[in-house]
Amino acid sequence: FSASCVQVDAAQVARGQDNRASEADRFVNDLLSRMTLEEKIGQMSQIALNSPEGPKRDERILKGEVGSLLFVRDPVEINRLQHLAMEKSRLHIPLLFGFDVIHGYRTIYPVPLALAASWDPATAERAQRMAAREASAVGIRWTFAPMVDIARDPRWGRIMEGAGEDPYLGSRMAEAQVRGFQGDKLSDADSILACVKHFAGYGAAVGGRDYDSSDLSEEQLRNVYLPPYQAAIKAGAGSLMSAYMDLNGVPATGNRWLLHDLLRKEWGFRGFVVSDWDSVLSLTTHGFTSGPEDAAVRAVHAGVDMEMTSTTFRDHLADAVKKGLVPQSEIDDAVRWILLAKYKLGLFKNPYVSLDRAQKELVSEEQRTASRSIATRTAVLLRNEGGLLPLKRDVTSIALIGPLIDSRPDVMGSWSLGSHPEDTVTVVEGFERSLASTGTKILSTKGVEIERGQPSIFDDQFPSPKPTLTTDAAKEAEFHHAIDLVKQADVAVLVLGEAQTMNGERASRSTLTLPGKQQQLLEAAVATGKPVVLVLVNGRPLDITWASEHVPAILDVWYPGTEAGNAIAALVFGNAVPGGKLPVTWPRSVGQVPLYYAHNLTQIPKDRDTRYWDGSSAPLYPFGYGLSYATFSLAPMKTSATTVHSGGSVEVSVEVQNTGGLAGDEVVQLYTHQRSGSASRPVRELKGFRRIALKPGERQTVTLTLDTKELGFWSPQTHRWSIEPGVFDLWIGTDSNATQHATLDVTPQP
Ligand code: BGC
Repeated sequence: FSASCVQVDAAQVARGQDNRASEADRFVNDLLSRMTLEEKIGQMSQIALNSPEGPKRDERILKGEVGSLLFVRDPVEINRLQHLAMEKSRLHIPLLFGFDVIHGYRTIYPVPLALAASWDPATAERAQRMAAREASAVGIRWTFAPMVDIARDPRWGRIMEGAGEDPYLGSRMAEAQVRGFQGDKLSDADSILACVKHFAGYGAAVGGRDYDSSDLSEEQLRNVYLPPYQAAIKAGAGSLMSAYMDLNGVPATGNRWLLHDLLRKEWGFRGFVVSDWDSVLSLTTHGFTSGPEDAAVRAVHAGVDMEMTSTTFRDHLADAVKKGLVPQSEIDDAVRWILLAKYKLGLFKNPYVSLDRAQKELVSEEQRTASRSIATRTAVLLRNEGGLLPLKRDVTSIALIGPLIDSRPDVMGSWSLGSHPEDTVTVVEGFERSLASTGTKILSTKGVEIERGQPSIFDDQFPSPKPTLTTDAAKEAEFHHAIDLVKQADVAVLVLGEAQTMNGERASRSTLTLPGKQQQLLEAAVATGKPVVLVLVNGRPLDITWASEHVPAILDVWYPGTEAGNAIAALVFGNAVPGGKLPVTWPRSVGQVPLYYAHNLTQIPKDRDTRYWDGSSAPLYPFGYGLSYATFSLAPMKTSATTVHSGGSVEVSVEVQNTGGLAGDEVVQLYTHQRSGSASRPVRELKGFRRIALKPGERQTVTLTLDTKELGFWSPQTHRWSIEPGVFDLWIGTDSNATQHATLDVTPQP
């Protein structure tokens, strides 16, 4: 959809200078007219519990100096603080309690990259709906999610928090998550406000190094990086977080073009903007502002409405207004958006949380069932030679090996801040339960331990377990013990990958290899001649090029969450069939990154994969790839027309048949390419997909509607978004190498 079609002044509507002003606008404007400057600045300030301001929260709330609190999660404490705001402060304005509910609150769901691997927006929506129910049950009504940053560099640790590399898949996942968090109505007690982040381009950090600058042409920004934000906003996302880094030389948190011209004027965003953690203060570290006062003034002017953690607003804005450095109208606009969000959440009427709800909701059986089922829908089967998977349960013994087999935090992944590790089902526990009635022996041991080479930002709150194998002799003995167990067993399952703190914020990598001695362990296990299944626990593609040739079965389960062990066992033994697809291109080695399917290229078909003389330039696994225990065949594709006018749509259909012996899911994917126009376009772009379930022998026709609006793009020559008439290629298939082809002639609008 067009980035430039919505030219509205949302602030004018909210101010009541437009007859579209609603009851909410009127309520907020009345309240605003009664607020002092200090109270207004209070609404624009958020206190993080673990910051120096944390201990001062009570006195600040009483004086009306706080709009929001971050990381408070005890419902009794939330009610106590809310009581101070509602009953003891002058204007009785409710507090908004925020938390990073990224993939679950107490019950942890698969990480967002895994949700994207489901290729099923309904699955992502369901996960976030359940997360919202749990978080709201303790009084958290605001989450800092979804992260919709496109990421094309797996070295970046936060790739795990988004939907991967593709703007179309990313947009569908963004809007689904917003719907999940915000529910039918924001005022419902189990809805939480979404915060789409990190605006914008945070995923394009140079070298994949977290917080490094992003340099993106307007063409890349508008065609690749911005669409998921716009989709989330269209879906009603009530807030947005500015990013830490420089975008094209201007820090995102002080970037008026981004936060005002684009977001407010062009897109008509009607939510509020929160900075990232200390990102207003750090405008000075960027070498952008001269000190905290300048930072506060320029952040507000750029369009930041609420400051997270740092206190430049509280410390400097009142003086700055008095000195004429900040117009009163900029303060009023910011406060208006914040109050409007609180109003829409129903907080003025229902500020408190019922303590019974938390009891019923937290890690309830319903939450666990949803988490388990979603975890099985997000797994991607990368290899399955000779149909090794699913494993038969009646073998005599299974060796279950790897550093992650009995870890609770590691299988949940990063940003599991509300979890209680003891809730988590380990892989060993999942296997034991699954095999309880069979008599199959599980021979389990770690084999190796893994550790981060550098400290993690979460070390204070969530200390990583310390290695127990401290001497070389102990490490060697454990390694050999593991290989002995493999030799004794009929089949080996190696659960390898990355620990919890190896992904997420400030968790970038300069290699993509399996950390520690896991590769050696894998090679030694394969060398025994026993059949080996590799279960990967990870938040980014890893270098498994050796495994892709030598290990018969590879199942990527990402970070599955609280029910990890049960979900993995269900997948390995065939109680669930993997049907996910890669939301990212899987490189062969770190030297290939960034690697993504929708690249621009001078077409040299025969030589395409030989552009590195020392290796292939093709990925190990393409975007959209994933196998099943079932097999599928596709009948020839059909299109409802070969010509369509700009503004119209065409139906592309294909019949899919399950030709295997087990029920399973397949994902039909539609790709397009514009042959000529005012600019070069990517060789392929995803423009439609659907995941379907088929029983053995069953057939289903999948019809995807291709709206020509999806063929539009922002041209660096015309500087606008339009659908350029001409010939388009269409492909349909089950990954981005889809081969069934048709052409479509798009003619000018009649
Ligand atoms: C992260 C955000 C997060 C915030 C609050 C920041 O460091 O970049 O994504 O929402 O902390 O935890």
